[in-house]
Amino acid sequence: MERMSIKEAAVLAEQTMQEFSLRHAPIVEKNFARVLDAMREARISENHMKDSTGYGYGDVGRDALEEVYAAIFGAEACLLRQQIVSGTHAISLALLANLLPGDELLYVGSPYDTLQKIIGLHGETPGSLLESGALYREVDVDFNDLRADVIVDAIGPQTKILAFQRSRGYAWRPALDMVVLRGIIAAVRQRCPDIVVFVDNCYGEFVSDVEPIEVGADLIAGSLIKNPGGGIAPCGGYVAGRRDLVERAAARLTAPGIGAEVGCSLMPQRVFYQGLFLAPQIVGEALCGAVFTAAMLQNLGFQVSPRPDEMRSDIVEAIQFGRRDLLLEFCRGIQRYSAVDSYARPDPWDMPGYTDQVIMASGSFVSGSSIEISADAPVREPYIAYFQGGLSRYHAKLAVCRTLQDMQDAGLL
Ligand SMILES: *Cc1c(COP(=O)(O)O)cnc(C)c1O
Repeated sequence: MERMSIKEAAVLAEQTMQEFSLRHAPIVEKNFARVLDAMREARISENHMKDSTGYGYGDVGRDALEEVYAAIFGAEACLLRQQIVSGTHAISLALLANLLPGDELLYVGSPYDTLQKIIGLHGETPGSLLESGALYREVDVDFNDLRADVIVDAIGPQTKILAFQRSRGYAWRPALDMVVLRGIIAAVRQRCPDIVVFVDNCYGEFVSDVEPIEVGADLIAGSLIKNPGGGIAPCGGYVAGRRDLVERAAARLTAPGIGAEVGCSLMPQRVFYQGLFLAPQIVGEALCGAVFTAAMLQNLGFQVSPRPDEMRSDIVEAIQFGRRDLLLEFCRGIQRYSAVDSYARPDPWDMPGYTDQVIMASGSFVSGSSIEISADAPVREPYIAYFQGGLSRYHAKLAVCRTLQDMQDAGLL
């Protein structure tokens, strides 16, 4: 087959990205206005930018930041802490705190790799959901044609939480569109008004102009070293939603009775505010990088998801390489063209929480941050790379083009 040259592919991909950028700009603007107005409404001042020590009683910067995030997400309450170590931790707090023995968690599709351990799916994990006496089930769905009736019919008498994952995660499926989610939640509420709808919001924040709570979800969770930290927040995670549910998550993070009242901010809050302020724009950059990558690899004959012109509800771009060596070299190239740790050569390893070996390219300023340019993959057939992030669209363009050129020079393409 006559393939396009890398140069030709890049010229066309640049055009595709420019068109997307114009189409997408109104969403960035709307989200930016939302962040700005939430900060103005909360009367954020220099006083909120500080750190705190000890118990962290009366930490106004921490409390106001939670108020701002709640407003942005359309939530009653938000627990947002430096002590939440990752997205997995945030999701674990949200779920485990709200499931008592006998309560069932019903997941739509299969959950993200690290959540399988939270649930305790592959043998006993100490502290897992199944160990605690809660129940777990999945409903098999087609994410290309998500049908409300299939989900409603799967709800059982013990189902307490119905959980969705917004992002594709490590799966060849589309991200969950917020308009589709709105319809499903409405149908669910008709039959089961009391069910708690949870959404794993990792990688989804600020991609569209509505967030899951606004379309009817009760509870969401995510990581600050992904979208909402804007590439600036150095750690942390959040749980947001109905006040009673968030309070239970806080009681689990600290202790019953003290909940969200305690927890000092060793890191001055400035970085969290500033990261949030930049987040809508940074997510826009990441999306432009994803569209460029999609177009580029599609032009070179690879299957990508989403395709350049498809609907997006997360920042992830999946590329099917079909071959182990292509997958590994693509990830290694992304690492080589990072600003930090460019000389490192990632290899697949047994990462805690994952079932397959994982390769991760992330030469980031914040360790492991994947709103910064990153490519990772569980090393399994059909060898799909998950590319995401990029604080600048120019970085994504440069890293992807140079990586592909290197692969061609090495005779791989
Ligand atoms: C990243 C991610 C997680 C887990 O977050 P970590 O910060 O890596 O623990 C969970 N779900 C989805 C969809 C994710 O993308």
